[in-house]
Formats: sequence, C-alpha cells, structure tokens
Amino acid sequence: AIRSGDLDANEYFEFYRQRAASDPYNSYTWVAEKAPEIDTRKPFAGVPIAIKDLFCTEGIPSQAGSKILEDYRPPYTATSVDRLTTHAGGTLLGKTNQDEFAMGSSTENSAYGPTLNPWDTSRVPGGSSGGSAAVVAGATAPWSIGTDTGGSIRQPAALTGIVGLKPTYGAISRYGMIAFASSLDQAGPFTRDVTDSAMLLSAMVGADPCDQTSLGLPEPVRIPTANDLKGIRLGVPEELAGEGIEDGVLKAFNDTLELAKSLGATVETTHLPHAPHGLAAYYLIAPAECSSNLARYDGVRYGFRKSGASTLIDMYTQTREAGFGAEVKRRIMLGTYALSSGYYDAYYGRAQKVRTLISQDFKNAWDKFDFIVTPTAPGVAFELGSKTADPLAMYLNDFCTVPMSLAGIPAISIPNGLSEGLPVGFQIAGPAFSENRILDAALALE
Ligand code: GLN
Repeated sequence: AIRSGDLDANEYFEFYRQRAASDPYNSYTWVAEKAPEIDTRKPFAGVPIAIKDLFCTEGIPSQAGSKILEDYRPPYTATSVDRLTTHAGGTLLGKTNQDEFAMGSSTENSAYGPTLNPWDTSRVPGGSSGGSAAVVAGATAPWSIGTDTGGSIRQPAALTGIVGLKPTYGAISRYGMIAFASSLDQAGPFTRDVTDSAMLLSAMVGADPCDQTSLGLPEPVRIPTANDLKGIRLGVPEELAGEGIEDGVLKAFNDTLELAKSLGATVETTHLPHAPHGLAAYYLIAPAECSSNLARYDGVRYGFRKSGASTLIDMYTQTREAGFGAEVKRRIMLGTYALSSGYYDAYYGRAQKVRTLISQDFKNAWDKFDFIVTPTAPGVAFELGSKTADPLAMYLNDFCTVPMSLAGIPAISIPNGLSEGLPVGFQIAGPAFSENRILDAALALE
C-alpha cells in the first residue's frame, strides 16, 4: 500500500494516471500515456489536472464531445490550461467527457457515450461538464476544470457532491475554449473542497491579450480562512428556492440556512422578480450565439468531413448532418430562427432586455445582501435516459443557475448533504468580483 506522504511528484501523478486509465464511469475521452517532465520547483508540481474536452490542448484530441471534431488536435493550448500547466506546474492528466459543445445538463449528449455518476452508475453526473465532475467525485483525478455557460460547473458539482465554482464573467480567459455562447461561457474549477477551489482558481485567473473580454480579478485569490459568518447577510430569493424544487433538496437547503444562522449570518427572504424568466431568455440567447459560433464547422477546417459528397455545398450539408448530434442541431435551428430578420426584435432583442432586468434584480439585491443563496439544482441526479426525450424537462435543471450566468456574476456550489442517498448542492452567488468573499462563506459552511 502506498501512503501519500511517501509519494514524490512523479509517483503521485502516476498513481492517478493509472486510476484514470481504468476509470469505470466513462469520464475520460483521453488519458495521458505517461507523465511529462515534472518541474518540482513549480507550485502545482505533479498535481494531475483533468481538463474538459472543449479546452484546446496542443496536439491532444480536443473534441468538445462532438463527432464533428473527431480527433481534432489543436495547434495551441487554451490560456487557462497553459496557466495551470506551463506556469503553475500542474500536469495534464486527461480530457474529460462532456455534452456536445457544452449543450446539456446530463453528459448524455456526448458523441463518446454518457458519463456515469460515481454515486450510482444508473444515474447521470449532471452536465455539461459531467466528466470533470465525475473524475473528482470518482477519485480518478484530484482536480479538474470545466466550463459554465448556464450551470455546467455548478449543477454537475451538486449532482456528484463536490465543489464547483463559476467565476465572474471575464475573470478567466476564454482563449482556446471551444465556444458555445461567448457572452456566457466561463471556465472554473472542480475540487473536493473549498480550499482547493481557491488554489485552482488562483492559477487560472488573469487578463489575456488573446481574449478582449478577459479582465482577471481586481485582487489575487486568497486562500479562504473564515470559520464563521458573523455579519453576513444572506438573501433567499423566493422565486428560486420554493416551487419546483424537490422536497429533499429543499430540506437540505433549509438545514444549511440554519447552519448559516448558527454561524452568525442573517437570513432573509427576498425577491429576484425577473429570475424565473432566466431560462426563457437563456434558451434564446445561448442558441443564438451558438448558431453563429458553430457556423465554422464546415468539414474544411476542423475534424470530421463526410466523404462522398459531389459538390462543396453537399459536403458542408452532409458533414453537419452527420457530425452534429440532435441537441446541437435543435439549438442551431432555434438560434438561427431567433436571429432571423423579422423575428430578431421579438425574440433575441426581448431576451436581451430580460437579461438586463435580471442583472438589475441582482444589483438591487446587493444593497441589502452580501450573497444570494439557492439550491444549486432543483433535484438530485436523475436516471440515465429519463429526460433525454424531453428537452424542456432537461432545461429545467438550470432554473437556479442560469440567472447568475446571464448577470455574469460569480457563484459556487458546495455539497450540503444528501437527499434519497444522493448529493445535493448549495449555491452562493455574490456581486461581480466577489470570489474571495464567496470562498470565505463557502469555507465557513463546508
Ligand atoms: N445545461 C445548460 C445548457 O444546456 C447549460 C450548459 C452549460 O452551462 N454549458 O445550455
């Protein structure tokens, strides 16, 4: 038996590499064959990090869960990954499975098969970053990163009982992240605890000349130390913490509110009146942006090409027909429709107005509260296949997470107990750039 104190950086990496290579949950789409040269002078020396498939990694398959990017090996590495590896010394352990182009809440929309939830392999791990959640929950990696467009870090973290953080939009560079909805996409860490979340985040943040929407954070990420919540005002929005949430999830949520009070917080019910319209706005804005972002997959520049077409147009059509899965096609059609002349104002324009109102709801909340707290997801991990035929039921998973994405604000999901023997998540959202304070509050509640 290996005792962890005895492991050097190379052995530590190899220990996880072997676990990852025999992962039973289909969480990986690629695993490193051997450890690269490890520079033991760097802070994360030898720490294996699993990376969601949609991050470009030089020379390594980066398929975003799609057949259309089959065996696509980018010529460069995403800035966030480069910061973790080249700069901080972490080691790329593997690429993790995901819903195709990050569209989904269960990781069942992957061209490479579904990922299973390590808590119960008949259930989904959530999505779209389900692989990144399953590797940490299933202990085939100590750390992983994913992306969150409408909940894809927070919801799978909740469904697998781990910590997932979506930073402020712009805190981390999007350069090299295969785009879904550019005004919403944001990378972030998956870890087993809050301290690790801060450590992983600290190495990822920063402005990047290659992403003009990146800002970094105004102050460095601190390792959180709080052990109480004295003076902290928590707002519980009635719209996101009542109707539609499973009883067991609500019970865990209320238990955590009691814990917060015992740690010195004040808890008050409040309102985010426009938040219930978040899903409707999101499912216009995200498909609109994806219809534009995914126009580049034409069989010429990347990955897969359908052979046998007789004209160039036929080649484009047949490649996209065979290369994209059903959910991606649905969204391209929805988005194209919402952006078409004659409908633009009625759909896309309207959705943008709702987005502004949701941001304003949060701004109003910050006059009275330090944080808004909600259950992360309305239910626990569901059975594989139980929602695949009903897109609306699947979209409802994002009910509590989408408003924060639309407002661009940071939010964390921490595990807060079990319902029906399955993990539940507690979401803490704060104003833009309040990551340090959120991490402190999360640590106190952990
Ligand atoms: N589940 C949501 C969707 O399908 C969110 C996905 C995400 O955050 N990438 O769009």
